[in-house]
Parts: sequence; structure tokens; C-alpha cells
Amino acid sequence: MHPTDDRRFLANETDDPLHEAFDRKMTVHAMPMGQSVRPEELPGLWADAMSAENGLPIRSIYIHIPFCETHCVFCGFYQNAYRSDLAGQYVDALIREMELTAKAPFINAHPFQAVYFGGGTPTALSAESLARLVSTVKTLFPLANDCEITLEGRIYNFTKEKIQAALSAGVNRSSLGVQTFDTQIRKRLGRRDSRKKVIETLTYLRDLAKAVTIIDLIYGVPEQSLEIWEDDIRTFLGLELDGCDLYQLNVFKGGLIEKSVAAGSLPRPATLREQADYYVRGIELMQAAHYRRLSITHWARTSRERSLYNFFSRGRSDCVPLGSGAGGWLGNYFFFVEGQLQDYLSAIKAGRKPLSFGMRRSEGDFLFRDISYQMELSYCDLKALSKRHDVDLLAILGPIISQWEKVGLVKLTDDCLYLTRSGEFWEVNLAQMLIDRLQEVP
Ligand code: SF4
Repeated sequence: MHPTDDRRFLANETDDPLHEAFDRKMTVHAMPMGQSVRPEELPGLWADAMSAENGLPIRSIYIHIPFCETHCVFCGFYQNAYRSDLAGQYVDALIREMELTAKAPFINAHPFQAVYFGGGTPTALSAESLARLVSTVKTLFPLANDCEITLEGRIYNFTKEKIQAALSAGVNRSSLGVQTFDTQIRKRLGRRDSRKKVIETLTYLRDLAKAVTIIDLIYGVPEQSLEIWEDDIRTFLGLELDGCDLYQLNVFKGGLIEKSVAAGSLPRPATLREQADYYVRGIELMQAAHYRRLSITHWARTSRERSLYNFFSRGRSDCVPLGSGAGGWLGNYFFFVEGQLQDYLSAIKAGRKPLSFGMRRSEGDFLFRDISYQMELSYCDLKALSKRHDVDLLAILGPIISQWEKVGLVKLTDDCLYLTRSGEFWEVNLAQMLIDRLQEVP
């Protein structure tokens, strides 16, 4: 390939790479795309995957709960309004799906190291439903002794009764979307609880000391100033929880934020330049508090926080998807479970795994996953990956990486690329560009 063809992978020539290296963020997570498979192939592919008597030794189960009690304005993952009758039917169906899945040879080939209840809002379910789901997974699936069982959710309506039920059943990690402690901004975002209530619930969880508690905090939302962002982080630090994720607001095209700003009912969110400053301030505060950095966005205070499911999902692992809207890579295919709730319920009633979409691994997928995984950890070992995948990465990527180094986004030492602070802010762009460039190689 002629070097000039690399131009679309180059950064803007600037002395201020943090703010100006690129004009936009390319994606939320850098990932290779697979090739989609025809819907009629999906049942056969799933049956093949389930009958395999091996698979990767690293494996997880992802269980989706597609209900929310409110639609938060910043979120692109809302599916269905929570209704207790519907949620009850859904939990019955999910347990049926687990029963249909659990006897397969693949399931029993290795123990699972992580189970993740994600959504949606798993904590919207009743105490009884939470306990039933967790107990069923533990009974039906072979779990590793140190299996991380995460319950994702929010503070609203995560009552003491639900907390006790979930933890007693076996949840050993709660991941709660706090976003901000500022009561006013919380209300504008669609979050119902006040700062006081959020702190009370988190303190209760921490003092129980039964499970890891981590939270998400978001920067760049409308009305949030740098001072409010600093206060959010300091409040989190003062609570002495196990960890947190500091993540950037993504304004989804056609989403509620975009619509509300256009209608004048919400002030504009932070610009990308402003977000870069929030990002840097977040790191300064976390480092000053001596938190361990598990990835570019994720921080841990205690050694209890491992974030296994998130690491697995970025790297080489198998994931069994359960529930309407769940997805996961299994063997050489990605399977997505039917997201339309009624279609999902009817299929499960008929004893069928309802799959609505699938992808086949692209050529080089494991190399791209290795790159994406390492870049989230702030480096990319080109020498080791070249050896592992039998490809000369430096020969292909060298010209692009040199330009990034000149601009101040990366440092190359002994054929290993390390992200600078500015490079970390643009990590998704850099990782996606490495993958996109390699995908052009015949
Ligand atoms: S942020 Fe969570 S609770 Fe809010 S709409 Fe999205 S998935 Fe639902």
C-alpha cells in the first residue's frame, strides 16, 4: 500500500494533542466487525456451539434484564418500561432459558469465571426475582470457586431487602450507575434519588462488606461544571468504595440529549475539548488518592475489585448470552438474543432459543481483540503480538505510529507502543485505526 493511503489514519498536526489530535471520537469501544450470518443459519450455529465439548478456558455468562424504571436522557440502551407483572413473566422465561441451555456439553466443559447481570436495570427486579435468578445460575451452571457474580443497576429502588436478597443468593459485586452526586443534575438526567439517598445506599453496601461495590461516574453532561465533576470524584473517594469507572458522555444521534438540547429544554453538554479537561482532572484526583488503574477508565481502591467480565469481554473468551437483548461471542460466532420482549417470551415458551442476529469472526479477529484489549490498558506490545500472530505489525503500522509519536499521542519503546496522557484520551480512535488499517491487509 502506498504511504499516502495511510492519511486517514493520521492525527491532526498540532502542539495540543489532548484537545486537537482528532475532530471526533470514532466509537465507544474499538472492535473489529464480524461478517453477519443469515438468520436461518442461527439455530444450527447455536446448536453446534452448544454441542462443542471444549471452548476457550476463559468464559462468562451474560444475563440481560431489559427493563428500566425511567429513561435516563444520556442512555442509548433503554428497552422496556419496568412493570412488575411483565418482569415476573420475564424471570420465569429466563429461568426456562437457563434450563434449556445448562445441560449442553459446551456448558459443562469448563467452569465459568464471571456471571454478569446487566441491562437495563437488574436492580429493578423484586428481591424474590433477584434471589431466584442468582440461585438458579449457581445451581445449573458450573461456576469457578472465585466466580465474580455482578449485579448491575442503580440506586433508585435498590432497597435494603433487595440488597440482602441479592447478596445472600450469591452476588459478590454490585456495579451501580451513579453518574453524578449532584441532585439537580441527577434529576435532569432522569435519576430520581437525591445526593443524600445515593450516599446512604452506598454507605450501607460498603458497611455490609459482603461484596464489592463499584460505581459509574460520567463527565460532560449538561450543567456539569469542572467543579461539580471534582466534587463527584471527591465524594466518591470519601465513600471508600472498591472502585469506579470514570466515563465520558456519548451523545447518541437522535437520542434524548440531542433532542432535548435542540428543543431548548436542556443546556448543551460539554464539548470534546472540555471533556478532555474533565478527563485529565479525573486522573489527577484518582492518582493523588493512590487508586490502582485497571484500565483507562476503571479504577480500584481495593484488591477485591477485579472487573473480570469487562476484561473477558474485550479479550479472548467465550460468553453465553441469556435473556432478551443479550449478546456474546461463542466459538467463532457472535449471538444476539431477540430484543423484542414478546417475541422472546413466545419463543422460550415454545422451547426455542430466540436468536435474532449473528456474526462470524472476521479473519484476524483474535489479533484485533488483543490490540483492543491492550490499548484499553494503555499499551500495545507490537513485538509480542507480531510473534503471536505471525505478522510484522511494525512494518504495516510503523508509518502511522511514527506520526502519532511526533504529535505526542504515543511513545514507542522496544517495539511496544505506550499511550501518553493525550493518547489515552483518544484511545478508542487509535485502537480502531490500528484495527482498520490491519483489516486492509490482504
Ligand atoms: S442508564 Fe441504565 S437505568 Fe437509565 S435508561 Fe439506561 S439502562 Fe436504563
